[in-house]
Amino acid sequence: MTFSASSPALPDTPEARRYNRIRRRLSLADTFLGLALLAALLVAGWSAPLRDLAYEAARQRYSLALFAYLAMLLALGKLLALPLDLYSFRLEHRFHLSNQRFGSWAWDEAKGWLVGLVLGGVLAELVYWVIRNWPEHWWLIAWAVFLGLLVLFAQIAPVVLFPIFYKFQPLENEALKRRLVALGERAGTRVRGVYEWKLSEKSKKANAALTGLGNTRRIILSDTLLENYSEEEIEAVLAHELGHHVHRHIPKSILLEAAITFVGFWAANEALRYLVERRGMFQGMADFANLPLLALVASLLSFLLMPALNAYSRQKEREADRYAFRSIPQVQPFISSMNKLADQNLAERSPSRWVEWFFHSHPAIAKRIAAAEQYARAYPQQVTS
Ligand SMILES: [Zn+2]
Repeated sequence: MTFSASSPALPDTPEARRYNRIRRRLSLADTFLGLALLAALLVAGWSAPLRDLAYEAARQRYSLALFAYLAMLLALGKLLALPLDLYSFRLEHRFHLSNQRFGSWAWDEAKGWLVGLVLGGVLAELVYWVIRNWPEHWWLIAWAVFLGLLVLFAQIAPVVLFPIFYKFQPLENEALKRRLVALGERAGTRVRGVYEWKLSEKSKKANAALTGLGNTRRIILSDTLLENYSEEEIEAVLAHELGHHVHRHIPKSILLEAAITFVGFWAANEALRYLVERRGMFQGMADFANLPLLALVASLLSFLLMPALNAYSRQKEREADRYAFRSIPQVQPFISSMNKLADQNLAERSPSRWVEWFFHSHPAIAKRIAAAEQYARAYPQQVTS
């Protein structure tokens, strides 16, 4: 994508640069801390005593012990990451991006930890049940089970998981609803619903997304966006989200995830087999003291694939943007919504090339604006509906 010299994208403020630089460092520190904890458990051999402790607490019952082990592992991880989490909370306030009080934040953290424990617990119990019953081909069966869970969670997320943290309600603005129906009709498609996402209780940032699968498929728009953007700007955002829907981006990303986790489960099996059979580590394949190894393989793989996954995501975002340019009467509201979003979220409009390559799931805002202008130059007399 080329830069347009006439791009009205404003230069980034030192404040935005500083904020995003700190955020990136925090996220890297968090990742490395997690990897270091898993590696330390394995290399220093702390996982076995932790397993014995879990067995004792669960009175030698396998499934219960596995759950106790996971709970201790997640508690340890949370404890280690707590200083970073606290710093992140303070950071949002320091840059005037948060409305959330400490108590509400701490409660969200606790809920997030519990949700992680429940989801992780379900996955771990299933995986080790498969390992115990089919030790030879466990990774293939576990992968299939994982895919089933992935689809299930994608479907229930908007109705079960998101409401644990935020309130949602169907969009009440009739004029906006009419615009969406018109957009959908032109596309020959229909999204089941548009919901207002009560983000303002916690954040000053604005956001929008396409979520769910099948009958839970919906567009969510933050109240911070609905309150501060013109109808034309909101229509542009809606059109972008509709673009994700029309191009079937959610099923496509599930397929990609399926391919990646296939490699992940295969690699986890190879690593586990090597350590169990050649190095005599752990008390066998079903010894859940090896769980940090499975988690380490998964974390390393997702970290290494981050640039590739982000490149894939940026391509999908460009596709949704182009869809939006075609479906709205004029691209100007798209451009102004991008500028507003950048200001409100303290986003970097033009991050350095490598920062965008590694960290950004969306193209840089300056590039998205340039693409909109390019489109407007190529199709100057767009039909106004
Ligand atoms: Zn998007």
